[in-house]
Amino acid sequence: MANSVYPPKRFVAYFSMEIALENDMPSYSGGLGVLAGDTIRAAADIRLPMVAVSLLYRKGYFRQRLGEDGAQTEEPVEWEVEKFLQEEEPRISVMLENRRVELRAWRYMVKGVRGYEVPVYFLDADLPANDARDRELTGALYGGDPYYRLSQEVLLGIGGVRMLRALGHTELMRYHMNEGHAALLTMELLEEETKRAGRTAIKGEDIERVRSKCVFTTHTPVPAGHDKFPAEYLSRLVPDQVRFIDVKDASSVDLIKSILQVEQSYPDWKEAAQRGASVNMTYLALSLSNYVNGVAKLHGEVSRKMFPNVPIEAITNGVHAATWTSPAFQDLFNRYIPSWREDNYSLRGALGLPPEEVWAAHLLSKHSLLEAVRKKSGLKLDPEAFTIGFARRATGYKRADLILRDLDRLRQIAKNVGSFQIVYAGKAHPRDAGGKEIIKKIFKAKKALKKAVTIVFLDDYDLELGGQLTSGSDLWLNTPQYPMEASGTSGMKAAVNGVPSLSILDGWWVEGCIEGVTGWSIGEPHRGDPGPESPVDNVMDAESLYAKLESVILPMFYEERNRYLEVMRHAIAINGSFFNTQRMVQQYITDAYLR
Ligand SMILES: *Cc1c(COP(=O)(O)O)cnc(C)c1O
Repeated sequence: MANSVYPPKRFVAYFSMEIALENDMPSYSGGLGVLAGDTIRAAADIRLPMVAVSLLYRKGYFRQRLGEDGAQTEEPVEWEVEKFLQEEEPRISVMLENRRVELRAWRYMVKGVRGYEVPVYFLDADLPANDARDRELTGALYGGDPYYRLSQEVLLGIGGVRMLRALGHTELMRYHMNEGHAALLTMELLEEETKRAGRTAIKGEDIERVRSKCVFTTHTPVPAGHDKFPAEYLSRLVPDQVRFIDVKDASSVDLIKSILQVEQSYPDWKEAAQRGASVNMTYLALSLSNYVNGVAKLHGEVSRKMFPNVPIEAITNGVHAATWTSPAFQDLFNRYIPSWREDNYSLRGALGLPPEEVWAAHLLSKHSLLEAVRKKSGLKLDPEAFTIGFARRATGYKRADLILRDLDRLRQIAKNVGSFQIVYAGKAHPRDAGGKEIIKKIFKAKKALKKAVTIVFLDDYDLELGGQLTSGSDLWLNTPQYPMEASGTSGMKAAVNGVPSLSILDGWWVEGCIEGVTGWSIGEPHRGDPGPESPVDNVMDAESLYAKLESVILPMFYEERNRYLEVMRHAIAINGSFFNTQRMVQQYITDAYLR
């Protein structure tokens, strides 16, 4: 059936725990999913024969509600799957413990700028044939306990490969794991190779064959971001698969050693599991991939230090330019740079855009942000006032509160140099108590500052709000604790809309910042080894932020508008033309897929 809809011959399968495609499809939580969606859009634009696989979340991630004091509560998202997705015919199954879990797939077609389509399959366990608790396995994104999470990863990795086969994708040449969540796909591929060779136990050559097909992208330098599960969980969930790789062939012993991260070699997996070894999904993916990359040059360096025995390269992230360009800038680009959608490189021509038209387009984007703020919060922001945008997951290292360290200083700057207002958004993970505290802290500062500096925190950050914020702010602020930000992509969305960044030199900004040309840095470039987090950094970084705002950015915005417009045009021409997924996918093709 699938074959009549689009050419079945596909080259690469892209696996991701989350994929953001539409605002009202709650199939993502944040940056990882947004990147996945933008990657697929760019693949469709350049007609790359790709298919993508994820899980269906009937309750989504969560809807964020904020109390008077900023206390976050979470509610499940309700949505109609049938309104967005087309059910596919095949059913496949995966054994979990001793239960057969049946899966179906729902398809979404991503259409590229030239009409080429990339199918995205969302796996769904909510079928009558399944146990009640198994039906819940495709319920919530990043919900549940570690055992639930590992069960989901089994469905994504092992179920995903089986579903692709059932849909007719039997000749895929590459499997791209977008983060370690999908690493178990390698176990299914190993089993396929072994069976194809007519054997019942794996050999080194099977491992080599699987490795030659797999690509792995790691996304975070934060250790907690790397999935680790007790090895015993995996033995319990998928005993057949574990038995399968647990043989006394020299290469599989090495493989198991590296997956289980054990120093001494145990006689077998079972023994290791009993002694408390854990399976690290990152190591599984690293061990079975031919090409591994971080998501910005600095992140590549940091990852090489984290995993010293593996060659790790870097492909810097991007955003899908057409998706993240505001309607006003789309119109401007259509008139002056007509090929910009097919050829994002041509955005370098933005240097020739008439400044007054850039400003007019920016004012339209800003107006639409302020309208969104009014609708969501009832607050009327000042359209003339310098507007700082800050939106990202609320969690400790992202330091959303850095700019709020010294409220008196903020009052003085606003009074002496020029008024400004800050628009915030961002969800904290339901179990991230520290992240939730940060939101409350912002609410406190908002009350303390009153009218001196208007602060607004918009709830339920999503794709739509992300687009409005990154295009409608006058400045995009990013203050992560170096070197914790792998890449960051919201500043890239700002850049295609001519919105400059003020950011710590971390993640993509190390590459994107040309001081005073594309935006501004907070603090000095770091040299040598990235050090541990220290409170001293907070003081110095806040001081640097205030100084830039006070003596460089606000005066330029209010008194030298033409110079500010120069920076805006450079943001598009230098950064928008490069930090996009069209360039990024082309690099994946040449560096990773065709390697
Ligand atoms: C772009 C985007 C992100 C990721 O942005 P970062 O800069 O990486 O934090 C997260 N959530 C939403 C809704 C987005 O649009």
